[in-house]
Amino acid sequence: MVKGKIGVTTENIFPVIKKFLYSDNEIFLRELVSNAIDATQKLKTLASFGEFKGELGEMDVRVSVDKEAGTLTVSDHGIGMDADDIEKYINQIAFSGAEEFLEKYKDTANSIIGHFGLGFYSAFMVSKKVVIRSLSYKEGAKAVEWTCDGSPEFEMHEIEKDSRGTDIILYIDDDNKEFLEQSRIDALLKKYCRFLPVPVISGKVKEWKDGKYVDTDKDNVVNATEPLWTKKPADLTDKDYLEFYHELRPGEEDPLFWIHLNVDYPFNLTGILYFPKIKNNIDIRQNRIQLYCNQVYVTDQVEGVVPEFMMLMQGVIDSPDIPLNVSRSYLQADRQVKKISTYISKKVAEKLDRMFRDDRKEFEQKWNDIEVFIKYGMLTDEKFYDQAKKFFLLRDVNDNYYTLDEYRKLVESTQTDKEGNVIYLYATDKTAQFSYIRAAEDKGYNVLLLDGQLDQHLIHMLESKLDKTRFVRVDSDTTERLIVKDDAAKADITPLEADILTGMFRSQLPEIKDTNFIVEYTALSAEDAPATITQNEMMRRMKEMAALQPGMNFYGEMPSMYALVVNTEQPAVKKILDEAKSAMESDIMPLRTEIESLNEEVSYLRKDLEAKKEDAEKEPLKTQISDKEKKVEDDRANEERIIKDYASAQPVLKQIIDLALLQGGLLKGEALTDFIKRSISLL
Ligand code: ADP
Repeated sequence: MVKGKIGVTTENIFPVIKKFLYSDNEIFLRELVSNAIDATQKLKTLASFGEFKGELGEMDVRVSVDKEAGTLTVSDHGIGMDADDIEKYINQIAFSGAEEFLEKYKDTANSIIGHFGLGFYSAFMVSKKVVIRSLSYKEGAKAVEWTCDGSPEFEMHEIEKDSRGTDIILYIDDDNKEFLEQSRIDALLKKYCRFLPVPVISGKVKEWKDGKYVDTDKDNVVNATEPLWTKKPADLTDKDYLEFYHELRPGEEDPLFWIHLNVDYPFNLTGILYFPKIKNNIDIRQNRIQLYCNQVYVTDQVEGVVPEFMMLMQGVIDSPDIPLNVSRSYLQADRQVKKISTYISKKVAEKLDRMFRDDRKEFEQKWNDIEVFIKYGMLTDEKFYDQAKKFFLLRDVNDNYYTLDEYRKLVESTQTDKEGNVIYLYATDKTAQFSYIRAAEDKGYNVLLLDGQLDQHLIHMLESKLDKTRFVRVDSDTTERLIVKDDAAKADITPLEADILTGMFRSQLPEIKDTNFIVEYTALSAEDAPATITQNEMMRRMKEMAALQPGMNFYGEMPSMYALVVNTEQPAVKKILDEAKSAMESDIMPLRTEIESLNEEVSYLRKDLEAKKEDAEKEPLKTQISDKEKKVEDDRANEERIIKDYASAQPVLKQIIDLALLQGGLLKGEALTDFIKRSISLL
């Protein structure tokens, strides 16, 4: 019998392991089963090289629970270990300064396991004692038993053991009794071992008999040893892919398409990525893609390995080149992993490109389901943008699809403004903006539909990527002014007329919560609407962007700004203005004359004031100024009141305002009822 100390430099590695790795302690099972699989595979390899000439026999791995004895055993028929092997592989932990190391990497403790030959020791996370019983494949080997109770001391002696291979027996400690439940073990095996390349047996197949489940004598194999991604794409049918998908994600709709990844240079990677239907709802769930390392499940936290936007996909990736058990920050920094991520992104873009070129009609049909993904990719991944710009589609309000190049050609001649910018008109709501869309189309413009949740960001990006291109929403100005091709005709009215006009309209606009209006006037044609509600593109965008970004509340809380643009050429407007002028001129003009002379006096008084040095001389001047300023204010208020009183008795003016509000979707509640009543009485 041998007694000895395990070769780590620190006395208390086990408590350290336990402490740091506690949260993830279930992975011990993956480590032990992986070791058993490795040992099995190694023996198969030796046999295939003729270095092992014996009988291979049963090569499965067994996981068995003995609740009474309090043990969990993992057994294999692999290469086994003799005393020397145990000394070398188990007793000498492959690095020094374990504790210091663990301290340094405590946040990434998971990364130490497996990576540095600590896999086996993870057994101590859940055990008070671990026993290894092993018989090596080597000729004449003696079976050994190794026991360790979690202190750095172990004990080893020869035993009788007939069958080749290793049993790892865990005496589960009191805190971890859950690992003595068959159901818990089955769940873990399903999670970690579902696709391992060697059959893993746990318990018996159960059958329903006499009102309950009972064990049959058939072994329960928990894994599929040849999962689909390890097979050649040429040998697989669509049905195979769909079946595998539903096995991975029971209860989900069929995916739209899939990509079978298969590389062996400059790194190894296999896998299948499925493209689910994504409605207008980006929900990046972290658990959609599973990462495997030689068929051993590693994680479903794939940030870093897979480009962010690919997290919308589902499926599996298997690569021995992705370090098993590593933390996220480690993954993101790893160059190999970066390459993998770039590769996957490229493959996906190629697949989409091929689909686009092979069958454009079908691609267009799928567009609504995949656009979120493509847009998200273009927004977050520069390389993907460069590939995607060939197959990215813009959709207009009539459901025609255009590539970026096609669309440019379509609108370049009709929608270029006087500064040479090509204006891409768009709507975000086909129904609400219907009249604006129609008006733009009547002018021969094309209107895009950009109603997705990423579209605001997309607009920003395309404006920066595409040369001399601006996106303008159809309701952001009157149709005439959406695309300014030459200097617009100036409204031909006097300052007095302008004041009366804007004063009247402003006074009759309704009060709407968080909404401000300004009144503008412009000379459109006599056939155009008398007034239109518009919302400035830049202001609206700022508000929309702010709403998406927490912390930019300033803009988010700003009221919405609309303009009521009055068409001075429209006959009804002309009539209102003419009548108003003759009705109010005699009242307003004297006020205006007075305001003018008061202002003049104030400016003289101010000059005088500047010239005075003594406070005593200044005071009377100041009083005079403020009296006169007060008078100006009163006169202004008076003028405003006159205009308002007059305007409030003008049903046609109110009608014009309400029609504009109605068109802009802003006429609601009481205002709408008033409008209807007024309309009826006008009839
Ligand atoms: P790793 O597997 O990362 O090398 P482990 O601590 O899990 O680290 O195992 C250390 C070594 O012990 C393995 O490399 C292997 O040589 C040996 N070993 C562990 N388990 C078994 C087993 N079931 N059969 C044969 N050898 C094993």
